[in-house]
Amino acid sequence: MTGTTPDFDAVVIGAGFSGIYMLKSLRDKLGLKVKVYEAGDTVGGTWYWNRYPGARCDSDAYIYGFTFDKQLLQEWEWSERYPEQPEILRYLEHVAKRHELKRDMQFNTKVIGGEFDEQNNLWTVHTDKGDNVTARFLIAAVGTLSYTNVPKFKGFEKYKGKWYHTSQFPHTGVDFTGKRVGVVGTGATAVQAIPEIAQQAKHLVVFQRTANYCVPARNGKVDPEVTKARKADYDNIVKRIRESFFGQEHYFIPKSALEVSADEREREFEKKWDAGGFAYWLANYQDMFFDQKANDLCADFIKRKIRSTVKDPRVAEKLIPKGYAYGTKRQPLDTNYYETFNKDNVVLVDAKTDGPIEEITENGIRAGGKEYPLDIIVFATGFDAMTGPLKALNLRGRGGRTLDKEWGDGPHTYLGVSVAGFPNFFTITGPQSPSVLSNMPVSIEQHVEWITDLIDNMIRSGKTTIEATPQAQDQWVKHVNEVVNATLMVTANSWYMSANIPGKPKAFLPYLGPEGVGGYRKKCDEVAAKGYEGFNLA
Ligand SMILES: Cc1cc2nc3c(=O)[nH]c(=O)nc-3n(C[C@H](O)[C@H](O)[C@H](O)COP(=O)(O)OP(=O)(O)OC[C@H]3O[C@@H](n4cnc5c(N)ncnc54)[C@H](O)[C@@H]3O)c2cc1C
Repeated sequence: MTGTTPDFDAVVIGAGFSGIYMLKSLRDKLGLKVKVYEAGDTVGGTWYWNRYPGARCDSDAYIYGFTFDKQLLQEWEWSERYPEQPEILRYLEHVAKRHELKRDMQFNTKVIGGEFDEQNNLWTVHTDKGDNVTARFLIAAVGTLSYTNVPKFKGFEKYKGKWYHTSQFPHTGVDFTGKRVGVVGTGATAVQAIPEIAQQAKHLVVFQRTANYCVPARNGKVDPEVTKARKADYDNIVKRIRESFFGQEHYFIPKSALEVSADEREREFEKKWDAGGFAYWLANYQDMFFDQKANDLCADFIKRKIRSTVKDPRVAEKLIPKGYAYGTKRQPLDTNYYETFNKDNVVLVDAKTDGPIEEITENGIRAGGKEYPLDIIVFATGFDAMTGPLKALNLRGRGGRTLDKEWGDGPHTYLGVSVAGFPNFFTITGPQSPSVLSNMPVSIEQHVEWITDLIDNMIRSGKTTIEATPQAQDQWVKHVNEVVNATLMVTANSWYMSANIPGKPKAFLPYLGPEGVGGYRKKCDEVAAKGYEGFNLA
């Protein structure tokens, strides 16, 4: 780089859904010079890293994809309702190829730092491969569930067997045949993986910290007539999901669970249960997330289902969630999960009743005073969600400020897309945006298009920097917290609440706006229409 001419107009970090579309928009719509850095050896993000048995999306595939490419919406055929990881990866590879994106992507390269040069208004970005490049704009497309969490169990280093984390699974797969396997964790990933591993392993021990409310996925082939009708109606579907609460075609029942008769309630519950997927979670009675009594009714129905599926009443009791409201943790979708605990080769070790994991030993795991010998341990322990991958960028904004320090008590953002003191830096589906509470591609496309318009606007009006004002940021943080404090979400020790990782400051990470994804989009558009209200443009 010479003088103040940057090497790139924009650097994008990450090549999952977000990085793919961000590059496409800035390069092909605005004609900018863009570089994408990606730690993995190809595109895909989540669908490149998470290769555990049973890995698949939980969003219905017909809405789990890009909508900017209308021709592709018509051409692409998903093989089932929730395709598996290799198929989604194939889709993202196809998009990258179709739009010739890889020529501006550098793989196997991790961004390890960056600082804002206040004199020249440029970001300098450093990678683990020795790149030191400058760019006017820096965009984090680093994902929300991309920073692996391996709990620091005592004795880990002593273990002589093999261990894997689900989000960094070997590309060659793992053969569990004839092995004694332990799975640590019972979140959405584990609920997908456990039934698959149980089919292969000689013996499977599941270590549960908190029992989850699982609802049936009901995966399978989609009726070709349904697919045909959806393809004919895509423009309306896209409009509907963009305006919806969760970026999906799920809508609350506009009634209280408490105002209807027990018969009517039971009929509705069964209907949602039969529909499968997120219907029971996101299309239930409208007071389910607000009223403990309404929530109890929804929860009791699931508890009855668990009791009727799991044959050993003692095991069923361990699998019954206790002490938190239904729906306040990420909803796992169940394909033979509860049935798996009827198998003779599967044992459930519950932290509350059997005792928590005490240590990893040379031969396995000791929990509740008992050692479980294991050949393989699979950690399905999730992520340092949302803030983890952003903090790991080691960015320095104005005056050398860091996200670590600025976010010492939880995230502080404006609209979940920018951070005061970090000019020209944007976070796609960042903390305090709907993000993980939505069907992600909808939120990703919204952020990418909003950021693209903003940059276009800046270029046209000759502005060089934009940054959130501390006042606008404070107001947004206050609003995010006020909204969520009125719900039951704050009662759970969930990763949404940053509670999965010891020492992580307790804060609600996404944004549960009063009108969801649709209302949030309106808010962002209003901010833009008012000349980027809440931002300083210079
Ligand atoms: C198992 C699993 C299932 C999921 N299922 C669904 C679902 O059904 N529906 C849904 O809406 N969402 C789902 N999600 C969320 C999913 O992450 C998003 O849908 C979507 O894939 C996110 O795309 P992204 O590009 O924003 O982030 P990611 O796909 O996470 O991509 C981020 C990329 O950034 C890279 N990166 C991060 N930091 C750096 C760095 N410092 N330097 C270089 N590269 C870096 C990472 O390597 C990664 O490739 C799921 C997540 C997981 C883990």
